Amino acid sequence: MSHLAGRHALVTGAGRGIGAEIARAFSAGGAKVTLLVRDADRATDAADALSGPNAIVVADVTDRAAVFSACTRAADQLGPVDILVNNAGFAESAPFLRSPPELFQHMFDVHLLGAVHATQAVLPSMIERRRGHIVNVASTAGLEGQAYVTAYVAAKHALVGLTRALALEVRKHGVSVNAVCPGYADTQLVHDAVANITTKTGMNEIEALRSLLASGRQERLVMPEQVSSAVIALCTAEDVPTGQAVVIDGSGP
Ligand code: NAD
Repeated sequence: MSHLAGRHALVTGAGRGIGAEIARAFSAGGAKVTLLVRDADRATDAADALSGPNAIVVADVTDRAAVFSACTRAADQLGPVDILVNNAGFAESAPFLRSPPELFQHMFDVHLLGAVHATQAVLPSMIERRRGHIVNVASTAGLEGQAYVTAYVAAKHALVGLTRALALEVRKHGVSVNAVCPGYADTQLVHDAVANITTKTGMNEIEALRSLLASGRQERLVMPEQVSSAVIALCTAEDVPTGQAVVIDGSGP
């Protein structure tokens, strides 16, 4: 993976889960890596897993000024950002009639505007240098409906829409914009969802996980490594695609 050597990849929400794994994989491939996290104290395991030059910058992705200054600090430390992975996110389930506007607002603030802020912070330099890759971590929920998560589904659809539209706008500048769309993955986010189902329904953990997987027509959880492989492929392929939403649903051998 020498084509990552010397490239600077910045990953948001990189303190744990899929973001930490994407950061680890970029680092293992020879990239310089910035972890953008909300809480540096909780990112020590993620930082310890990095093998090359790296930096930690702190920002809540909903805070535009903090995101811009974090991206500036990252570039000061490791050089201009060549690869941005907008991964920060969270999930919350509720029936639609019990989903207040504040929940929709927060979902859009994190998943859509968080990606907008980080992208607007690094894109000018990518355009100027005619090189850059942006990968948005969306979800299968960005491509299809799922019950009891209307706010999450709407925000992830918006992120896929942003991906597709921006890709058309910046392809002429040598910048690619793609999304990965994992199904339920083996991270704390899903473990929390399983705990929530057990509390609300009385199912045990195995039954709750089975019902979650069945709702996504999945046989098994997606492993974070499957997501990181797809992200890296979108940044290193011979002929990098743009405007794509790549589904990772854990199927296959
Ligand atoms: P996770 O909860 O393990 O990690 C999410 C990370 O994002 C955490 O480190 C958290 O601190 C960070 N984060 C959340 N809000 C933030 C904010 N406002 N500012 C900065 N950082 C913030 O979850 P994960 O499963 O690793 O999820 C990563 C991404 O993958 C999310 O966007 C999620 O929607 C998406 N995704 C997850 C699954 C899944 O099943 N786990 C499936 C599809 C998509």
